[in-house]
Amino acid sequence: MEPALEGHILAGRLKEDDKKIVCDLTKRKMLPRNILIHLKNQRPHCMTNVKQVYNERQQIWKANRGDKKPLQFLISKLEEHIYTYYSRTQLESNTIEDIFWAHPTSIKLFNNFPTVLVMDSTYKTNMYRMPMFEVVGVTSTDLTYSVGFRFMTHEKEENFDGKEVSNRDVVKKIMKAWKAMVESPTQRLYANALVEFKDSCSDFPISVDYAMTTLNEVKEKIVRAWTDHVLHLGCRTTNRVESAHALLKKYLDNSVGDLGTCWEKIHDMLLLQFTAIQTSFGHSVCVLEHRFKDVTLYSGLGGHVSRYALDNIALEETRCRETLCMDNDICGCVQRTSYGLPCACEIATKLLQEKPILLDEIYHHWLRLSMGEESNEVAFCVEVELKAIVERLKKLPFQMKLEVKEGLRQLAFPETTLMSPPPRKEPTKGAKKKVDIARSKGKITSTSRIPSSWEVVDSQNSDSQPSPSPTSSYKRKKSARLVVDVIGDGHCGFRAIAKFMGLTEKNHLMIRTHLIQELIDHRDDYVEVFAGEDRYNYILNGLHPPANTKTCAHLVDKWLTFPDMGHIVANYYKMCVVVLINLEVGNSESFFPLRGPPPPGNQKTPILCLGEIPNHFVLISLKNGCPLHPSSTEWHNHKKEDAVTWEDEYLDQHELFRKLMAIESGNKPSKPQKESNKAAPILLDTPEKPKQQFEVIAEDEEDSMSLDLLQSLGL
Ligand SMILES: [Zn+2]
Repeated sequence: MEPALEGHILAGRLKEDDKKIVCDLTKRKMLPRNILIHLKNQRPHCMTNVKQVYNERQQIWKANRGDKKPLQFLISKLEEHIYTYYSRTQLESNTIEDIFWAHPTSIKLFNNFPTVLVMDSTYKTNMYRMPMFEVVGVTSTDLTYSVGFRFMTHEKEENFDGKEVSNRDVVKKIMKAWKAMVESPTQRLYANALVEFKDSCSDFPISVDYAMTTLNEVKEKIVRAWTDHVLHLGCRTTNRVESAHALLKKYLDNSVGDLGTCWEKIHDMLLLQFTAIQTSFGHSVCVLEHRFKDVTLYSGLGGHVSRYALDNIALEETRCRETLCMDNDICGCVQRTSYGLPCACEIATKLLQEKPILLDEIYHHWLRLSMGEESNEVAFCVEVELKAIVERLKKLPFQMKLEVKEGLRQLAFPETTLMSPPPRKEPTKGAKKKVDIARSKGKITSTSRIPSSWEVVDSQNSDSQPSPSPTSSYKRKKSARLVVDVIGDGHCGFRAIAKFMGLTEKNHLMIRTHLIQELIDHRDDYVEVFAGEDRYNYILNGLHPPANTKTCAHLVDKWLTFPDMGHIVANYYKMCVVVLINLEVGNSESFFPLRGPPPPGNQKTPILCLGEIPNHFVLISLKNGCPLHPSSTEWHNHKKEDAVTWEDEYLDQHELFRKLMAIESGNKPSKPQKESNKAAPILLDTPEKPKQQFEVIAEDEEDSMSLDLLQSLGL
């Protein structure tokens, strides 16, 4: 091929064989440019460039995740590999607050080696800039193992930026003095080192003050004069976890992955880590170094103690032979107190008596040379408990049933989580601009309420109808009997449904979950009703709460919408759903369940009635036997055979409606009507009759709000 074709899209297109190679090598964690080199070696005339390799990898990545949301992917992976994990969401939202996970082998290792844990956080591991908190432990073979990882959102990250002291020499000097101080083996030497440290940073009085107060609180935890008397197994600083972070960051490769990507890379790292640990155990069990063979002192230890511990004992033996100490005061006994191993004075006694070191004299940490025991699960059984739960559930009131069911659902199907990641943070470089600071300050300190959707809308079109003031909760309570208003944050439709179910408004996310479940469980039916996959997917997506915002007032596609969602609500809750819309905006409609008959018994199932005023939903209580709109055309077209009787339940109410309509058209023949409106217009437009259908008439001024609402509904 001509060299001029290099970079040409068609010429560089990957062949099917090449795609396979890219897929294989990607699984083996090969970098894109190395994959490209491999391809070029395979086929010298290959015109592919690295961009196409990247694109192919992107395709593989997408195929791997399917249509799972980021956290659904993460949780399905955690489940697949039997991780122990725990997550929380931010108050009253579905944005993740933090998530912790631990590999099953990590937990076994932790049960075996729990004596010393080192914890530290690191930054810039993921695209959300969620700080990562890692806990590591140490094995008997002195290898670091990861206990668990926690990703958390908190705003304090910025505090760590831009606090660097620029003059390197000064820093070096201070660090040297600091190190000398922290490493002081006795308290007297510590006092000397402290004076030197104060001198070295006399130019920074504030820093010294800060260091001194902090140091006084923590010196027993970090200064050697104290820490040497603590069983720390060689971990006196966070160096161990810091080197673990450094290693992890090599695996993470960059800081722009999401949590799923982080998990995958951490998972790979863990597998290698466990292999290395397993190997080190094998070495300690099988291989005894020549210098320990046939030596009385070590004769009881071979194969039972880790090589690292043996090395430490050997070092202490050398010290013992050098100093010939048998005195506790000279020995210091650090080896015994900090490592749980025989110290020089003990070894001296053993040598004199020509006795071996006993296994009992060694701290059990050093004797454990396996990944941990398999737990014994023979007798495990929860049948009794599950049965009891089912029995108790039967006795609960309906709204409690819903709550419990939601809890159980989250346990049973964790991968369907609605959690969403925090907003993606743009990397910041250099000093913050004044505008940014002001903005971020405003964000944090502002206590102002998020405007309701109607307020947003009103401020946009000044000529729209004035909305009632939603600020007085007293007013809201007063009008609750007839019209229940809910917070207008874009979740209002779902809030109103939650209210109707006897739940609190806060449960609007649960309603979304129910509807999503319904939609997924009966996918084929809905594709038919919505006349296509595209619409189905749009509705499904709309039911998922928006990522990382408590409000979705500005996200129209996340609102409850009619008619499509009307069917879902009616089907899931098995009841008639009525939506009342102001005639100028659209048509009111009734929705019946598309499958299954009405529940048996004489009592009619309650009707869920939502009032749709422009950009807001409220819950309306209908009086028994009030006129009812005919059912939607979709119901007639798509209802299953067993659902036919739903309409019979409300025949008299439909009849009432027809009569009213007749009066309406008789009284006001001149009322302009859109030709396209096939369904009958909402009769509530007439002033006299429909008002009697509602139970409450305003008693005083406080109820003016409900009147406003009624007016805006055209009642
Ligand atoms: Zn000693």
